[in-house]
Amino acid sequence: MTPRSDTPQKIKFLKLIYQFPEGIKSGDIAEKFSIRTATVTRSLRELSNAGYLNYDPYQGVELTSAGEEFVRFLIRRHRILSLMFARAGLCEKAACIQTELIEHLVPRDHVDQICRSLGHPSRAACGIIEHDPLCCGGC
Ligand SMILES: [Zn+2]
Ligand SMILES: [Zn+2]
Repeated sequence: MTPRSDTPQKIKFLKLIYQFPEGIKSGDIAEKFSIRTATVTRSLRELSNAGYLNYDPYQGVELTSAGEEFVRFLIRRHRILSLMFARAGLCEKAACIQTELIEHLVPRDHVDQICRSLGHPSRAACGIIEHDPLCCGGC
C-alpha cells in the first residue's frame, strides 16, 4: 500500500520545507519538531517516492514543482477551513487549531466547494488565500 502524503505530520514537514527553497536537512526538520531524525527520514523518503521532494540524505531536501503545488493547496485548504470555522463563530485561534485536527481529511473538491460557498475569500485570520487558475475548477 502506498503511504499517504496527506497526514498531519507530513503536512507540517512540507510546509516547513516550503520555507526553505534552498533546501533543508532532515536533522534540522527533526530538531524543529523535537522528533527523531529516523522518523523524519522515513517520511521524507515516502514524500520523495510520491514525487513531492528531491531527497538527498547528505544534501538535504527540497520540493519538486509537484511538491510546491501540493503545499500551496495545503496552505489554501488550511486557510479556507479555518475561515469556515471562524465564520461559524469560532474565535480565530480555535478555528486554526480545529482546522489542524481535521484538514488532512478534507479532499480538494470539498475545499473548492467550501471556497465557492464562502465567495472565494481572499483572506483568513492566518493569512492571504491565494487563488491560482486551478483553484475551484478555474473560478
Ligand atoms: Zn490557521
Ligand atoms: Zn475559490
